[in-house]
Amino acid sequence: MGLKGDQGTSRAMNRRLVLNLLRANGPLSRAEMAGITGLSPATLTFVVSDLLAENVLIEGKSTIGAAGRRPVPVEINYGSRLAVGLKLMVGSIDCVLTDLATTTLHATRIEVADQSPESMVAGCVDAVAYLSKFAPQGAQITGVGVAMPGIVQAGICHRSFRFGWSDVPIASMIAERLHVPVWVDDDINAFALAQQLFGLGRHHRTVGALAIGVGISCAAIIDGNVHHGAHGSAGKLGHITFDPQGPLCECGRAGCLQAMFSEPAMVEEWRTLTGNPGAVRQDLLAAAEVGDAAAIDLLGRAGAGIGQTLAAFCNIVDPELIVVGGEAVSFGDFLFDPMRRTLAKHCTWTPPKVEPHWADDSWARGAAALATQQLFDFEASDGAMRALPV
Ligand SMILES: [Zn+2]
Repeated sequence: MGLKGDQGTSRAMNRRLVLNLLRANGPLSRAEMAGITGLSPATLTFVVSDLLAENVLIEGKSTIGAAGRRPVPVEINYGSRLAVGLKLMVGSIDCVLTDLATTTLHATRIEVADQSPESMVAGCVDAVAYLSKFAPQGAQITGVGVAMPGIVQAGICHRSFRFGWSDVPIASMIAERLHVPVWVDDDINAFALAQQLFGLGRHHRTVGALAIGVGISCAAIIDGNVHHGAHGSAGKLGHITFDPQGPLCECGRAGCLQAMFSEPAMVEEWRTLTGNPGAVRQDLLAAAEVGDAAAIDLLGRAGAGIGQTLAAFCNIVDPELIVVGGEAVSFGDFLFDPMRRTLAKHCTWTPPKVEPHWADDSWARGAAALATQQLFDFEASDGAMRALPV
C-alpha cells in the first residue's frame, strides 16, 4: 500500500499518518496500524496516546473473535471538534455546522443583500453566530471553511466573475470578525476535497470532481491531492469555449461550455422553448419524465456537450472516476446517459465511470471540509500518506 513510515519522522507527520489511516480505513488496532505504517509499536503507542489525550481519538470496544480477544481498536472521535461550512452564492449563503467527517449537525440558508464583500462578510459572521448555538456542549468550532465561485489563492479572491470581485482578501476579512481560522477556496475545489476526504473519491487516487450548477467546473484530484494550478484557477472546465458563436458567458467570452449547458442555461432554454418564463428546473425534469421529446432532446444535447468537453479533461488527466455534483444532478440519466456515451466516443482510452453524488447540503459540506482538512492536513501530507523525514 506504500504506507511505510520512517521512525525518525516528526511528531506532526506521524499524527497525520495515523489520522489519515483511520480516516480512510475506519477503526484499527495499534498493532494493525503499526503493521501498515511501519512505525514502531513504541512510536505508535506514543502518537495514539497523545491523540487520545486530546480527545481526537477514542478507544473502541475489544471484541471476542475466533482466535480469542482482539486488540482494542481506536477510531477518530469525529464529534470532538466542529467546523462551519459556508457556500457563498448570489443573494444567499448556504451554511452548515458539521463534525470532523463533515456530517451535518445543522444546516440553514441566510439571505444577503448583495454580492459586495462587506455584505458577504456580514452574512458569514451572522451565520457562524447562529450555527454556534447548535454546537453540542464541549465541542469547539475549530475553523470556518468558505466556498465561493472564483479564482482563489491563499485566502484572496483574485477574481469572481459572478460576484464582480477583484483581489478581495476575503479570508482575513472574515477571520478578523470571527477570531477563528478561516479557509477560502473555489467551490469546486471544496467539493472535490470533500469527495476525496469522505466521499466517493476516498478510495481512488485520480478523480475528476465535476459540478454542473450555476456554473460548470471540474477539479482534478491527482495522486490524492486537489490540483489548484499555478494561480488557483485550475478546474474551470465551464470556461472552455464550446461554440464561438454561442451566448455570452459571465467571464466576458462567447460560447463557454457553461454559458450553454449550466443548469440555469438549460432552464432558460426550456423557458424559451415552452414560452413559459416562469418554468423552473423541476418543470423541465417533469416534462422529460413523461416523455416530452423536446425536454429529452434538450437534456441530451447538454449531456453530450458536457461529455465532449469532459473527454478532453479525461484525455489529459486520465481519472479513474468522475464524481458529479451540482443542482443539475437531479436530471439524472436524461443528462448522464448522453454524457457517458459522448465520453466513451471521445476518450482516447478507457472512459472513467461517471457517478452522481449530491445532496442539497453538498456545497456547504464541501466548504466545511476546507476547515476539517486542517486536522488531517490531507494535502500537506503526500498522497501516499507516508511519514516524511524532517
Ligand atoms: Zn466563460
